[in-house]
Amino acid sequence: MENLDKRVPLITDALQRPLRDLRISVTDRCNFRCRYCMPEEVFGPNYRFLPQEKLLSLQELERLTRIFVSLGVEKVRITGGEPLLNKDVGEIIYRIRHMDGVKDIAVTTNGSLLKHKAKELREAGLERITVSLDSLDDERFGAMNGRGFSVKGVLEGIDAAASVGLSVKVNMVVQKGVNDQDIVPMAKYFRERGHILRYVEFMDVGNSNGWNLKHVVPSKKIIEIIHKEMPLERVESNYIGEVATRYRYQGSREEIGLISSVTQAFCSTCTRARLSAEGHLYTCLFASDKTDLLSVIREGASDEDLRLLIVQVWGMRQDRYSETRLAQTTPAHKVEMSHIGG
Ligand code: SAM
Ligand code: SF4
Ligand code: SF4
Repeated sequence: MENLDKRVPLITDALQRPLRDLRISVTDRCNFRCRYCMPEEVFGPNYRFLPQEKLLSLQELERLTRIFVSLGVEKVRITGGEPLLNKDVGEIIYRIRHMDGVKDIAVTTNGSLLKHKAKELREAGLERITVSLDSLDDERFGAMNGRGFSVKGVLEGIDAAASVGLSVKVNMVVQKGVNDQDIVPMAKYFRERGHILRYVEFMDVGNSNGWNLKHVVPSKKIIEIIHKEMPLERVESNYIGEVATRYRYQGSREEIGLISSVTQAFCSTCTRARLSAEGHLYTCLFASDKTDLLSVIREGASDEDLRLLIVQVWGMRQDRYSETRLAQTTPAHKVEMSHIGG
């Protein structure tokens, strides 16, 4: 296992965590209305998305990313909203992929536009992609995505991505009583196709998804359910700070992953900063505070000013929400998931 801690970090936060990853939301818009993320009642026809002039331009996004990379970021994830709705997504990938210091770039998408975009993304230099899919059942999936999108469209997107040479992982958010019956069918389907499926515990992101601990299927339970049908064995992490816990089907090379942010928090190794589409820096998925980097840029800040500001914000970072979630007595007002992209 590669030991991240052996490398000397350029900057560390108040809990000695380096800055290694940057998640960039390239749009606040989405064509889905997943109930756990952008429920229609909140994100309906009257919801006001950000106007173009309030969004980071391509140049601003590139400039900020370069500064983050100069401070230690090596991995970048492009997310949203739905990132493939951004017409510049190929150009964004190309520019970041070719920055000195960037070792890895990935995209998280709902897959609905992937069939038509896969080739462009690959040509921009993308090597891997994460597609979110919560069920293989059209009725359940259509209800979960809130807009009746079909499973077939997403599966075609996944096939298109694999056929142009992208390595594909699939994320499934599991909710008790909603799609837990899909745990095994999803495992079988993606095992046969050689794509790693990652089960994500339903999280209390934002303020609009009506989260309740009772709706979470703990990863331990998910493992038990799959193990009964297809025996599993634990696989060592690739590196410290890897978000997913890995398991392999016994006697094979196919794997699954579990992202257990609720039942086994991983804040102590969290090296992720998040940049929203309007250029706000968040130091935690559950943050309520942000730093408006776009305004600072538009007021004429130099690269050095921006670097110092980020160093200062990161230096004060103490976030460890998932480790303290269950002890919290008053609900905090948190940023929405669709704003900073998971
Ligand atoms: N639209 C893209 C997509 O769905 O892949 C990217 C943005 S989405 C916010 C990023 C990831 O967050 C998706 O895999 C989605 O399933 C996950 N997500 C959203 N809300 C969640 C929640 N309440 N709990 C766990 N995961 C969630
Ligand atoms: Fe859109 Fe992704 Fe949120 Fe679903 S999870 S509403 S696809 S941003
Ligand atoms: Fe990182 Fe915040 Fe999630 Fe903890 S709760 S792992 S600090 S994003």
